[in-house]
Amino acid sequence: MKVRGFALIFLCTALLCGCGVQQEDTYVQLESPGYEEEMSGEDITPDSEADTGTAAVVDGDTEGMPEQENIPETEAETEAEPEAEPETEPVGPVIETVDGCTYADGVLIVNKSYTVPENYGSGITTETQTAFDSMQAAAAQEGITLFICSGFRSYSYQNTLYTNYVARDGQTAADTYSARPGHSEHQTGLALDINSTDGSMATSPEGLWLAEHCAEYGFVIRYPAGKEHITGYMYEPWHIRYLGIDLAAELTEKGLTLEEYFGLTSVYPEE
Ligand SMILES: [Zn+2]
Repeated sequence: MKVRGFALIFLCTALLCGCGVQQEDTYVQLESPGYEEEMSGEDITPDSEADTGTAAVVDGDTEGMPEQENIPETEAETEAEPEAEPETEPVGPVIETVDGCTYADGVLIVNKSYTVPENYGSGITTETQTAFDSMQAAAAQEGITLFICSGFRSYSYQNTLYTNYVARDGQTAADTYSARPGHSEHQTGLALDINSTDGSMATSPEGLWLAEHCAEYGFVIRYPAGKEHITGYMYEPWHIRYLGIDLAAELTEKGLTLEEYFGLTSVYPEE
């Protein structure tokens, strides 16, 4: 009994003194070499595969590798946020009234809404005449004969014309084709009727040439077809207005009347 009890005490003491730790160290030492051998074994195998892979890459080089471009980065830089455009209110023309005449950005405006004084004007302006002469010469070189059939008209002469038209056709009809005195562009000396004041000018060689080329000399067809409700007048393919080359070209290019361009009306006061 004494021997068995002593042996039990010895066993417990041995365990408490670290026999378990020694066993643990032994376990680790036995495990680790096997693990390392496995790793070294894997290292060897890929080396032989890499040799065959190298040959494949060389072949690939002779075919040319696709160039690597940093397109996404470049695009990202150029597609940076667009600069915000400053918001600007649309600016209308400067409307001035000088000595009874109305000017939009310096351009004399005469229509059913705007008049010139009774004593205004004395003839075709020098600029208008010079521009017409140039246009007439150019047309002549192409076999087209242009002439002024009505240029400057005084207030009193326009009054006579208009009164006669009203007597013949009535005021409503007369107002579609004849200006009331003081409302006629012909009193400005900037407007001309070319060749004939009848509908044939819409299709005649002279009328077609005029429509195509008058802007080159600073004129516009003042009362175009389809704009009757804006200008207040029927289509007049013979009536041209001098505006200068820049403005005439801009209006013609944009297909705008003077009223549209400047945002103006052409309506008699009582209408
Ligand atoms: Zn006219």
